[in-house]
Amino acid sequence: MHDNYENINEEGVYKVGSVVPEDGVYACVPCGNKKFLKAGSRFKSCLACFGKERRLFRKGMELWEKIADK
Ligand SMILES: [Zn+2]
Repeated sequence: MHDNYENINEEGVYKVGSVVPEDGVYACVPCGNKKFLKAGSRFKSCLACFGKERRLFRKGMELWEKIADK
């Protein structure tokens, strides 16, 4: 399968659908929305981007960045 998602492996940046590597606070890269995520769960689409911040939403741009350990 080939899709439009680029394989981004920059340290601390994760794509939607990938597994959360460790507990921590992650921020949505396009909009800055913060969320605490548990290790072993998966990154989900950001509801803020999906809804009211629709103008910022772009497929393939759904990335989460780790900003804090707790
Ligand atoms: Zn967002």
